[in-house]
Amino acid sequence: MVREYKCPNCGAPMIFDSTLQQMLCEHCDTVKTVEEMETAEENTAYETGEEASIKRYTCSNCGAEIVTDDYTAATFCSFCGSPTLMEDRLSGEKMPARIIPFKISKEQAQNSYRAWCKKGMLTPKDFTSQNTIEKITGMYVPFWLYDYYANAKLNANCTRVKRERRGDMEYTHTDHYHVYRDVSDYYEKVPVDASEKMPDSVMDRLEPYSYGELQEFNMGYLSGYMAEKYNFTSDELKKRVENRLEGYIFKEARDTISGYSSTAVTEKNVRLSCKRATYAMLPVWLLNYRYKGKEYMFALNGQTGKIVGTLPISSGKVLAWFGGITAAVYVLLTIIGGILA
Ligand SMILES: [Zn+2]
Ligand SMILES: [Zn+2]
Repeated sequence: MVREYKCPNCGAPMIFDSTLQQMLCEHCDTVKTVEEMETAEENTAYETGEEASIKRYTCSNCGAEIVTDDYTAATFCSFCGSPTLMEDRLSGEKMPARIIPFKISKEQAQNSYRAWCKKGMLTPKDFTSQNTIEKITGMYVPFWLYDYYANAKLNANCTRVKRERRGDMEYTHTDHYHVYRDVSDYYEKVPVDASEKMPDSVMDRLEPYSYGELQEFNMGYLSGYMAEKYNFTSDELKKRVENRLEGYIFKEARDTISGYSSTAVTEKNVRLSCKRATYAMLPVWLLNYRYKGKEYMFALNGQTGKIVGTLPISSGKVLAWFGGITAAVYVLLTIIGGILA
């Protein structure tokens, strides 16, 4: 099923506007809240494909076939650009529970990208061309947010050393302590991205998101953006979050041991128990580019504006740069040569 939000006034597609934090018709400027659009009669769902197992989507606006992979949840018709939501991938078990709506607009993301490119002195020109900048895409990335109870029990051998001088003799007193700690904590909303396409290293660096702004999920927020449904279930990603939490709770317990000359942890026992995993969509602005056979990615947190990216170096500019240095050195040598002569 394809879901589309149509303007109640003119019938053009309604998209979620990050500045207004509401649904907007770009054609006639009609504004509605996400909740209003959810109950509007104009929004239409289309049954497409002959069987439920065959995923074939047809654009309700122009009738073109919409090509998606198995995980696309929101996209655009490649012929008419109409925003299209794959409702069957966003409902029932696959319905996200929460969402952080986009706060950074496309224009802001493009300006950040331009400024970021300028900082890299050796950026090839192609990357800042209007053509490239147009391709920046707003994407909702699927995440699991885990709530965990964690407990760490530590045994450690610690010492306190005192030195004392009496006459010609130096005495060293070493007191030995057996230290035991039992520390518990509750961690809320620890995020792990559930999309195979997004490199984990990029997503981890885009954090933190401010989870105070999590909203109840509503499909309307996705209108006008791309979205992916999760590739991995919350169970499949537990190992990743637990590795992280094991480190957190161990550090918390270890940090309570202080004031000793030496501390050696002899035994640790960490217990983790998952209380809840929440399926959430988080906003990211993305720009992928290929340059000389290599892939590069620019990513920007769609809520906070934080940037993560790898910038390639253009060999043409490197040559010009080094050429400039060589020329300067040559001039300098000539002047010195002139003085000496
Ligand atoms: Zn309209
Ligand atoms: Zn279309």
